[in-house]
Amino acid sequence: MQDIQSALTEASRILAESSDSPELDAEILLCLILEKNRSYLRSWPKKQLHAQQRLQYKTLLTKRQQGTPIAYITGQREFWSREFKVSPDVLIPRPDTELLIELALPLIPKDKSCKLIDLGTGSGAIAVTLATERPYAQIIGTDSSEAALKIAKQNADHYHCRNLRLLQSFWFEQIADTDFDLVISNPPYIAANDPHLQQGDLRFEPHSALVADENGLKDISVIAESACKHLKEGGFLLIEHGYNQQPQVQAIFESFDYANIQTHSDLGGNPRVTVGQWHP
Ligand code: GLN
Repeated sequence: MQDIQSALTEASRILAESSDSPELDAEILLCLILEKNRSYLRSWPKKQLHAQQRLQYKTLLTKRQQGTPIAYITGQREFWSREFKVSPDVLIPRPDTELLIELALPLIPKDKSCKLIDLGTGSGAIAVTLATERPYAQIIGTDSSEAALKIAKQNADHYHCRNLRLLQSFWFEQIADTDFDLVISNPPYIAANDPHLQQGDLRFEPHSALVADENGLKDISVIAESACKHLKEGGFLLIEHGYNQQPQVQAIFESFDYANIQTHSDLGGNPRVTVGQWHP
């Protein structure tokens, strides 16, 4: 027999080598099996686990020990205070990306229509968040991956987003509209030889959502170039990028003649999102 407390202690020990947050991981995985929240674990430390539960727990611990991200085991991740369904077909939403939302919201009117597009929507975390926060906005979310769009659709349905249309497109390829107020994207921006790709969650995430040619800058460049043809006068382009890409991304924006170019830092203090305005 084993109770909650001793199961957690043993699990944390098992995960200590493979995870940066063994205690938290141990708790999250046990919650998943017991279908309870974390405060339950603290309230009932002496509650015994059944044999079946112990076996299930062991299976999940092994997965985590082998590196599978917690979000892919639980199938969800929180973003901007909402839970999003995720799978290995989509990038796991990051807190860094909440900066895109923080910068986009003041640019989107609360009480009248406006048109925006999220390129490479993945789980739909950005598009669904904006659609929910700004119900008058008309939003398109695109992704080149059909599998990713299935996940995005489930998230959009879950949050009843009637103002979000999802469609398969490689960046703007299938998009004819030329009157967007805002173009937003968290594209792939990691260089193919970046050692981080061999570490942590990144090993399990879709390569196509992480890695870009030309030292990570190819897709940012393609998006910045094509967004010119799809933005209204005065519309905004917001792109997430790597912590060390600010000078190159600003140069790309300048080369396509965006105005009022500014880079903003994430909570970790890293330059993370560059914004430009199309011919204001
Ligand atoms: N921000 C992610 C990371 O560095 C990468 C996401 C991306 O390429 N868009 O872990």
